[in-house]
Amino acid sequence: MGNFYEDNDDLRFYVERAIDWEPIVRLTEHDFRSPDGPKSTAEALETYQDVLALVGGFVADEIGANWRALDAAHPKLVDGEVKYPPVMEELFEKLASLELNGLNIPRELGGLNAPVVLMQVTNELFARADVSICAHHGFHGGMAMAALVYSVLEGSTTFDRELPGISSTRFQHVIDDILAGGSWGSMDITEPHAGSDMANLRTRGVLGEDGVWRVTGSKTFITSGHGRWHFVIARTEDKQGDDAFAGLNGLSMFLVPAFDENGVRTHTTIDAVESKMGHHGSATVGISFEDAPAELIGKRGEGFKYMLMLMNNARIGVGFEALGLCEAAYRMAKAYAAERPSMGKTIDKHEMIADMLDEMRTDIQGIRCLGMAAVQLEEIAQKIDIQLRFDPPADPAERERLEKRMKRAKRRARELTPVLKYLASEKAVEIARRNVQIHGGAGYMVEYGAEKLLRDAMVMPIYEGTSQIQGLMAMKDTLMAAVKHPRTFVRESARARWTSVSSRDPLERRVAKLEVARNQSVQHLLSRLAGHKLSELRHEPMGSWGSKLSHFDPKRDFALAMLHAERLIRILADVQVAQELYAQAKRFPERTEVLERWLERAEPRTAFLLTEITTTGHRLLRSLGHETEDVDQAAK
Ligand SMILES: Cc1cc2nc3c(=O)[nH]c(=O)nc-3n(C[C@H](O)[C@H](O)[C@H](O)COP(=O)(O)OP(=O)(O)OC[C@H]3O[C@@H](n4cnc5c(N)ncnc54)[C@H](O)[C@@H]3O)c2cc1C
Repeated sequence: MGNFYEDNDDLRFYVERAIDWEPIVRLTEHDFRSPDGPKSTAEALETYQDVLALVGGFVADEIGANWRALDAAHPKLVDGEVKYPPVMEELFEKLASLELNGLNIPRELGGLNAPVVLMQVTNELFARADVSICAHHGFHGGMAMAALVYSVLEGSTTFDRELPGISSTRFQHVIDDILAGGSWGSMDITEPHAGSDMANLRTRGVLGEDGVWRVTGSKTFITSGHGRWHFVIARTEDKQGDDAFAGLNGLSMFLVPAFDENGVRTHTTIDAVESKMGHHGSATVGISFEDAPAELIGKRGEGFKYMLMLMNNARIGVGFEALGLCEAAYRMAKAYAAERPSMGKTIDKHEMIADMLDEMRTDIQGIRCLGMAAVQLEEIAQKIDIQLRFDPPADPAERERLEKRMKRAKRRARELTPVLKYLASEKAVEIARRNVQIHGGAGYMVEYGAEKLLRDAMVMPIYEGTSQIQGLMAMKDTLMAAVKHPRTFVRESARARWTSVSSRDPLERRVAKLEVARNQSVQHLLSRLAGHKLSELRHEPMGSWGSKLSHFDPKRDFALAMLHAERLIRILADVQVAQELYAQAKRFPERTEVLERWLERAEPRTAFLLTEITTTGHRLLRSLGHETEDVDQAAK
């Protein structure tokens, strides 16, 4: 009998000590005013830990122990519907009996009212056992939650302050159906000709004379797309102009049910169940919609906004999934290396293998730290937003304080989210590959399971926005922050530089040095803007750039930054993890050694990336036809 929660000291450190549960539980439990809810944070935490122990045991025994059978069994298309093999059917039935689909759904809507933080921790546990089962499971409760969040956003949810809680919500029928078991949802974005390039999506939403919207088009690679409830993004307005991003404004979000009230599939066809490299427990399908009656969510043209909202949470989810897979691969590698003799000792005592294991462990701790920070901030921001919408404090000063707190949390969560998705999914591949390497020939053989983890890991840098798209998003936000607030950027650069030489705390100096390298990268990229667009600014101090840059968009204007976006996001990852681990070491001095291990790896890595950013790229850009200065050699 294993338990993936109880055997994980680093994870338990967060749940038992490091997560700041008090504000999260207070916001989730409306200040403990609900008659059916816990009366204190301690009481709530006790329940959360019970849930984690239950899930940790279930995933270890029912999923982790069965990985071979689950990996060998593939869902298939039979008579137009997806059929799971018996081993999966049995597992999904057992999973349904745990009634976890309503984990985050408010109590008054039939759920367990647990924080999102708790759900993401369960995500890690599931993914350690099998990442595809984690995905299949996630498209149940996750989509019920999406239905609720969308209704809140568009203003079709009402709140009773006396309860306190939600009194009605537009998609209650979706939530009820999913919580009853046997139903789930999907997020239908990708089309055969456009994945990252969402501005080119072609599926159409048309408003009929009868006032009913109908959706027509084909979506591909849709996880759990054989279910009932589809959040479909479709074009309702024609593209205005030739700009590569113009098409984003004409998209709208729809809810499309795939079955009628009698459970008969209608207006939708499952075109294919994909045969995949890994991720076998999750069905990935192609689906077509033919005049499918649809409900518009929000206003027409707001689809991209609604999609981003869902995707931000999903990206944090992939961070935790990837973390679970990293944990599985690291543990497998460590156990094998401790047993496998070579040249007079076990291989974990050979320097290079020991070095790999040490880095794997450090990376996992860094990702977990970043993930825990991101999910807490995102949850705080979303729940304060809900409080301000439905149950705002009477005191204007208190309202203002909450608004500020929400904005701070939102800003930082937005900074951390693409970096978490990028770092965790890239590391999942690296750590899974190292696990194969540490197993030697056995790593290549199916029976050991190392190759299965690598196959499963390979999708992580692809779905929910590829690594390159995360790089572009993080680059854009980072550069735009400096462009919009140049004085703040200059002030922050000066602070980091000063701290890096003057702090009495050597660890703070080292973290600040990483920040200096990040700022140097940003400044370098900004000072070499596309073509001649901003060349007149080159010789002006950054603090005075101000309004001259108000129409600047790095995604359109700045080839060098796009070229180096992935390098920049890796520097951001090194910096953000160091910042979070430093804050943690201040609270828990015994965690200082984790920060030290991270810094030891991050410092040379960041220096190397900064050198790449400042000395390379122009030759390649010229080959792509960009106007660029020949500064590569000069910089060297
Ligand atoms: C197992 C699995 C499950 C999935 N589940 C879902 C789902 O549930 N719902 C859904 O809608 N989709 C889903 N997808 C689709 C997935 O989100 C897309 O495959 C992904 O967004 C990439 O799109 P694409 O395949 O069209 O690749 P492309 O967008 O064609 O990208 C190909 C390559 O080019 C790079 N690239 C593209 N544009 C740029 C750019 N501007 N700059 C630099 N590099 C760029 C990409 O990073 C990538 O490396 C799933 C995919 C898989 C494999």
